[in-house]
Amino acid sequence: SARIIDGKDFASKLRARVAAEVARVVAASGRKPGLAVVLVGEDPASSVYVRSKGKATLAAGMESFEHRLSADVAEDELIALVDRLNADPAVDGILVQLPLPRHIDERRVITRIDPDKDVDGFHPVNAGRLATGLPGFVPCTPLGCLMLLKDVHPNLSGLDAVVIGRSNIVGKPMGQLLLAESCTVTMTHSRTRDLFAHVARADIVVAAVGIPGFVKADWIKPGASVIDVGINRTDAGLVGDVDPTVADVAGAITPVPGGVGPMTIAVLMRNTLVSAARREGVSLDDAL
Ligand code: NAD
Repeated sequence: SARIIDGKDFASKLRARVAAEVARVVAASGRKPGLAVVLVGEDPASSVYVRSKGKATLAAGMESFEHRLSADVAEDELIALVDRLNADPAVDGILVQLPLPRHIDERRVITRIDPDKDVDGFHPVNAGRLATGLPGFVPCTPLGCLMLLKDVHPNLSGLDAVVIGRSNIVGKPMGQLLLAESCTVTMTHSRTRDLFAHVARADIVVAAVGIPGFVKADWIKPGASVIDVGINRTDAGLVGDVDPTVADVAGAITPVPGGVGPMTIAVLMRNTLVSAARREGVSLDDAL
């Protein structure tokens, strides 16, 4: 049965490498890298994420700036905060926790962030940079998935990859990253016909669907690598988008929890470090 890809272990090693490089940037520049996180409202899941991000930022030796705004804040007030953070030299990364309340235009807020501080990689300029091979910021979850995949396949060139899901946050950037690694990429989604026939050809399957146990064992080519991005809360606890029996067929698979999940914040720390190093003109270890 499949090799279990230990995302928790990989993420903690990445965080240790980031902390070591943060210390170098501090020594070279005389200041700590800073991440500003903006939370609007009191959504419980978002509050948990924001708290974990703040803790991880401090643990990496960086400065954390938390801004909590009430759920009924005016859009212009949020925009004004983003403008201040864009202009603040102590801030290397800006993250606006999504989703935003319905009266706020999410796209206007995201596009207001300075692309060179957009450590979430959600700004259209960064999506364009990724698509055209320019340096920029890549969304944390798909970049974490790629890191786990490269641990299994140091050379992805020529492999058939199927991405299930086409969100701007996971599926689309995942497809671009795999394309940049010279995979043959098939993007699939809710309108795809005969999804299983696509998956059956794949050496690599990335599932970002949001449906518990959606991907079945009899779709999978024996030996394929399967990355399960899904985080679904069910009565049975936290489950992925991939049925657990896929582990009997796959060559390698990420568990849920303990697979992709822990990578997201670790990559956010990495992106913030990269931003600070670029802004300070410090070169970083390639292994990041
Ligand atoms: P989303 O809802 O924005 O997108 C889901 C995608 O799945 C859509 O593009 C849709 O076309 C596709 N889809 C839906 N039904 C389908 C079907 N029957 N067949 C094929 N495709 C179908 O979701 P998202 O933001 O991309 O997140 C996907 C999952 O990943 C969720 O479970 C989410 O919780 C999880 N997630 C985890 C992390 C993390 O690990 N840190 C981060 C982001 C998202």
